[in-house]
Amino acid sequence: MYRIVVDRQLCSGFGSCVDAAPKVFELDRSGVASLLISETDTADVLEAAESCPMGAISIFDADSGVQVS
Ligand code: SF4
Repeated sequence: MYRIVVDRQLCSGFGSCVDAAPKVFELDRSGVASLLISETDTADVLEAAESCPMGAISIFDADSGVQVS
């Protein structure tokens, strides 16, 4: 299971996270990424984190707390 954290201060609203993992990320009214869910077991969140040009997405192993992306 992955735990997802978005640094909304860093987010610039490019939306590539939404493209990569639309069940996890959305852009809110102010155009900043927000989370629909905070944990998932689907690996598309890793792709989303890598696609973020601002490095605003961090992914952790939910059990160990170790950062994986
Ligand atoms: S990819 Fe990064 S900068 Fe773009 S909306 Fe998502 S979190 Fe924000």
